[in-house]
Amino acid sequence: MSWGKIKIDKADKLFSIWIRLRDRECRRCHSKVRFNANGLPVSHQNSHFKGRRKESTRFMPENCDTLCTGCHGWFTENPIQHEKWQRETKGDKVVDQVTYWSNLYKKKDREAEAIYWRERIKQDYPDVTGY
Ligand SMILES: [Zn+2]
Repeated sequence: MSWGKIKIDKADKLFSIWIRLRDRECRRCHSKVRFNANGLPVSHQNSHFKGRRKESTRFMPENCDTLCTGCHGWFTENPIQHEKWQRETKGDKVVDQVTYWSNLYKKKDREAEAIYWRERIKQDYPDVTGY
């Protein structure tokens, strides 16, 4: 699977599961995420405010929101409105921190990231299986 030219790996998949378990709905229109029998999310997407090319905020919960396909596409097309919405929903302090972090260097280590997010899902959502 890919998003544009950006490859989606195991760490991205696990992090996306965690984000959608956290939010349980589109944070813009509040449509509900659907879950399968294992409790895994099967609808909606993990939207990055600062895009996946920025390794330092790629796995930062404050940089990410569950969105439905429609709202995700709308924010991608309307980045100024996306930033406005980020500031309205999270506050300037959080958005400024995310922006600052997004420009810092972070060593890419997807193995460690995958191990971390698998463990986070296990701890935070112990009833969910099959990931
Ligand atoms: Zn939506």
